[in-house]
Amino acid sequence: VQRSLVLVKPDGVRRGLSGEILRRIEAKGYTLTAVELRTATTEILAEHYAEHEGKPFYGPLVEFMLSGPVLAVVIEGQRCIEGFRSLAGATDPTLAAPGTIRGDLGRDWGLAVQQNLVHGSDSEESAAREIGIWFPGL
Ligand code: ATP
Repeated sequence: VQRSLVLVKPDGVRRGLSGEILRRIEAKGYTLTAVELRTATTEILAEHYAEHEGKPFYGPLVEFMLSGPVLAVVIEGQRCIEGFRSLAGATDPTLAAPGTIRGDLGRDWGLAVQQNLVHGSDSEESAAREIGIWFPGL
């Protein structure tokens, strides 16, 4: 069975949307394998966002991800990687379709980083890598 790493980013936790986001994952039929409120570190984020290093939004992205706790979640289910990305909606919450997490709950706050509530792994390879970063030993 497939696994994916989901993060409720600091904006989602701060706004009290963790429960709503977990509710949508469970309502879709995926299993919550691990759920942990964590404060990220620069080391964890450097690994997690390695592919974005050097991009103009990298600094603001790391700063944002350190601005408060994140909810780190491992979900499980048939095709849950693409399934969660479909639940999450497009990266830009202004354009994300209504019905999605970002489309229903997110908006543009005029900041340097798109505060878009959630992260979800984008492939089996990233899922394995990211689960290893956030939940070593799982
Ligand atoms: P995630 O990986 O977080 O699920 P994603 O795959 O849709 O989202 P990525 O392209 O991996 O987005 O970018 C990682 C994160 O960096 C985005 O979720 C967003 O918070 C931020 N980001 C991406 N592109 C931009 C941009 N052009 N300007 C500002 N922030 C951005």
